Amino acid sequence: MPEKTYLITPGPTPVPPEVSAAMARPLLHHRSPDFKLLLGRVLERLQRVFATSSDVLMFAGSGTSAMESAVANLLSPGDRVLVASAGNFGERWIAITRSYGIEPELHQQPWGERLDAAAIAAAAEGCAAVYVTHSETSTGVVHDVHAIAEAVRPTGALLVVDAVSSLGGVELAADDWGVDVVVSGSQKALMTPPGLAFAAVSERGWARAEEATSPRFTLDWRTTRDAQAKTTTAFTPPVTLVAGLDAALGLLLTEGLERAWARNRMLALAAREGVKALGLELFSPDDQSSSMVTAVRMPERIDGQQAYGLLRDRHGVVLAGGQGPLRGVIIRIGHMGYMNRFDMVTALSALELALAELGYRPPQPGAGAARAVEVFGELELSHV
Ligand code: PMP
Repeated sequence: MPEKTYLITPGPTPVPPEVSAAMARPLLHHRSPDFKLLLGRVLERLQRVFATSSDVLMFAGSGTSAMESAVANLLSPGDRVLVASAGNFGERWIAITRSYGIEPELHQQPWGERLDAAAIAAAAEGCAAVYVTHSETSTGVVHDVHAIAEAVRPTGALLVVDAVSSLGGVELAADDWGVDVVVSGSQKALMTPPGLAFAAVSERGWARAEEATSPRFTLDWRTTRDAQAKTTTAFTPPVTLVAGLDAALGLLLTEGLERAWARNRMLALAAREGVKALGLELFSPDDQSSSMVTAVRMPERIDGQQAYGLLRDRHGVVLAGGQGPLRGVIIRIGHMGYMNRFDMVTALSALELALAELGYRPPQPGAGAARAVEVFGELELSHV
């Protein structure tokens, strides 16, 4: 029996067969009419997923390159900017701004907390831009970007949001909420392999990008905007990934964004209930806001990295370990992307087996999977 692997991570996430099939088709030349057609459709679909009438800029690179583009294109040395952080990916904004010679002001909260919108707004006074994370993948917290946008607006600072692990999985209305820049990547809720990065930029963002003096070349928003205005790309794009993304966005928009968000909430609820039924503690919030990643605190004396290794190597179930100070302390179950109810049942069963090998016994054998199935049954009865 060949090894069967289950990717139940917060990215990269599994790729639907329709997406793999689209990527297996003969390679298009990037200056061909067929590619132009494909690119035009993808850019239009991206606008719908970003809920914006602005152009969505597409780059070859991982999500971090879109984050970097939002520093390089908006800032000049000496600018006052604020980074609000409560986890590993908030910290990444700090590292990127520093690498551009800009020392950001910091609003930091303990990892695992939800960002405080009023405190961010108070700290943002006098700043040119505020950088935040939407879904903080390292802790499982989805920050309230809507509230942060409302609070920051009176300060006049631009709001830049890392939506790498949220876009397509949880509501984010760039235009309606007044978010100036949203950046994301292909490999999470967008169900495409890693390698494409996106930035949606408001008019205010563009005005600042024209003034900024930080160096940039492949990530220069203006070069990409000018090429995309002619439905082409500035450089050779990852044609295969664009074909895959087209198929994935087709699937997502056919399901409907609201239904995809509801599916994520349902999977997260079952995961939380299953984790508690296993007698384990949640690290991520025990409420429906936390719908992209469930973070499970490991029982005392159990090393999360060892459990993560056992899950992967003995059971073929790939979850995610903890990052930074949470390494060994938590294990994370992803809900985003091409994920369904049985993935949650699998994750909970495998977690139970791996923890049993490390000496942990749940109150009842199979309690986690049983509770998840019960939750799905209840939700179906109430037509949620
Ligand atoms: N931000 C968030 C919220 C993420 O989850 C990730 C990836 N885990 C990144 C940024 C970085 O993306 P990439 O690894 O694609 O550069």
